[in-house]
Amino acid sequence: MNKNLVQALRTTKNHLAKLDYLGVKTIGDFLQFYPRTYLDRSVFNTVSNLMANEIATLKGTISSLTQSKSQFGKMLIQALFTDSTGSIEVIWFNQPYLLRMFRPGMEVILSGPVKYRMGRPNLVSPEFEFLRDEQVHTARIIPVYHETEGISSKWMREKIKPLLEYADYFQEYLPRQILESERLLPLNEAIKQIHFPENMESLRRARERLGFDELFIIQLLALIRKKKWHEGAENFYKKIEHESEVSDYFIRNLPFELTGAQKRSLFEILEDVKKPVPMLRLLQGDVGSGKTIVAAAALYSAVKAGYQGALMVPTEVLARQHFDNFKKLFEPHGIRVEILVGSLKEKEKRNVSENISLGLIDIIIGTHALIQEYIGFKNLGLAVIDEQHRFGVKQRDILKKHGFPHLLNMSATPIPRSLAMTLYGDQDLSLIDEMPPGRQKIMTRIVPDSKRRDAYGWIQEQIRQGRQVYVICPLIDESDFLEVKSAIQESEYLARDVFPEFKIGLMHGKLRPRDKEQVMKDFNEGNIQVLVSTSVVEVGIDVSNATIMMIEGAERFGLSQLHQFRGRVGRGQHQSYCFLFTKAYNQDSVMRLESLVKHHDGFKLAEIDLQIRGPGEIYGVRQSGIPDLKMASISDSGLMKRARTQAENILFTDPNFMQHPELLKKLEKYFMDEP
Ligand code: ADP
Ligand code: MG
Repeated sequence: MNKNLVQALRTTKNHLAKLDYLGVKTIGDFLQFYPRTYLDRSVFNTVSNLMANEIATLKGTISSLTQSKSQFGKMLIQALFTDSTGSIEVIWFNQPYLLRMFRPGMEVILSGPVKYRMGRPNLVSPEFEFLRDEQVHTARIIPVYHETEGISSKWMREKIKPLLEYADYFQEYLPRQILESERLLPLNEAIKQIHFPENMESLRRARERLGFDELFIIQLLALIRKKKWHEGAENFYKKIEHESEVSDYFIRNLPFELTGAQKRSLFEILEDVKKPVPMLRLLQGDVGSGKTIVAAAALYSAVKAGYQGALMVPTEVLARQHFDNFKKLFEPHGIRVEILVGSLKEKEKRNVSENISLGLIDIIIGTHALIQEYIGFKNLGLAVIDEQHRFGVKQRDILKKHGFPHLLNMSATPIPRSLAMTLYGDQDLSLIDEMPPGRQKIMTRIVPDSKRRDAYGWIQEQIRQGRQVYVICPLIDESDFLEVKSAIQESEYLARDVFPEFKIGLMHGKLRPRDKEQVMKDFNEGNIQVLVSTSVVEVGIDVSNATIMMIEGAERFGLSQLHQFRGRVGRGQHQSYCFLFTKAYNQDSVMRLESLVKHHDGFKLAEIDLQIRGPGEIYGVRQSGIPDLKMASISDSGLMKRARTQAENILFTDPNFMQHPELLKKLEKYFMDEP
């Protein structure tokens, strides 16, 4: 199967480099480069029935070939095509070799668009095949591949057809009983049919089989991860008993009433932490939906039940913010809260860590790594991770060495439920799908270059009235360095040419923690009016006087991320605005940005993003240690259920895969890739 692609394809280095870029290195990869869509050329038309602009597939003979120049200087091949119902003129441009390929009277199949010229139909640049050959481009349902420069669908079809027999080398790894009870095609057959389906039904079955595989593997991985999370926890039963008065008391003392969704999520969490196995739960809610207070109430219950709690966040700035917030919340209840971040003096850190191991601190807030690696807890009962998407599975498993605490993950990146269950199938899910009352809508506008000056003028006026502004610099692929550079340049430009009368601040990932903190403090206290930042500002920041979010190069960000940025404003009583600066004129980009103008619900936007870009692009599926969702079968809830049920069955009947070594081999590959 790993036979040299060069030999197999008889192709050039140039083509191979392009394949390599697409992740195709072996014949096996090549065969698993599935078509994007199909054209049905299986139905023949006749010359007498042609309609303008349709794509017609015709069978007949070629004659009267001539070569000439068009009025625009293009080289033109003309020929006459005849079937049993009549004749039609055929035209090709710039393909002189056709003269050598066609002999008058040859039987061919043509497939191409019908155009009318001077009242007569023409077939323009059709694809063609000789009747004596096997048909690859015509006379059947033909595959259309993702095309990148230099690799056309035509090329792919020609190269892949003769290699199809290699599909028989693919090892079948689905258990026989699953193949039978689900009536699935064998793997090799499915791979052949996905490229060159015999008919629509066999295409459907090929998609079903390959889609089932993706979901089945994902579900199995999730179930195994969940099992692993519980492994070894038997002697560490951390029961956080939910006396409802306990959390009620805490909640009654808040300055606001919890929303229905917050109450429901809190209830789900508190029911879960009573159980004898450690919780593994994802709390999802849009920016500003109030996840923190739900986590705080759960932490309160943990402390009241005699345990310690931890809140872990990705950045120091965010840790500080939570710390200030939690001190106000918890100190009136006599609960001791502390912070542990990198910028503390060594002595302070040691002090904190000692007090935690002695049980003198009830709730610790800090950055992920510090809390996990630095501290020995006395009795950790509940760990909360904010912004969990920045946090790998392996890191999560390290938590177990702190005595198998319950774990609550929080994510402000709303994901459609179907996809969440796929990507995070190892976690139980609580959704906060309702905003606290009275939230304002943030006015969102797309700003093309021609309107930039006006926008700056308007923003200036807002700042004069006392408001503050965020400016997000464009995402630069894979380069922190360039991103930081562009942020520095942008801040200098704004200070010099646009907002000379105001103070401009700068925020990026390469600043020292102390400097970051100072900038955030200055912004919070209004000493800085404009904060220029790379995308680090995305997470959790809360400055209520900031009412304008400007995003440069908006088309480069995903919708969910743009929505996150937008969530940074609109946190106070003033009307807030989001400006999407863009130079993009292509329709997809503009459509995406327009959906941001129209929609304010993060879940809705996530769904739109999913439709436009596919799961791989958005959620970094490729980096998440699960299979690619090439068949995009996540929206097929029926298939999902079947896959889930079969995954549960097999784990129940053969938990160590003793009877299914092929499947085990397949799974191990993914566990090795885990982040
Ligand atoms: P996120 O889910 O983005 O983390 P936060 O927890 O930071 O959101 O909450 C955003 C703001 O909303 C906070 O200032 C918080 O105090 C406030 N808040 C949370 N729940 C409610 C509620 N039920 N009613 C009113 N305000 C609330
Ligand atoms: Mg938050």
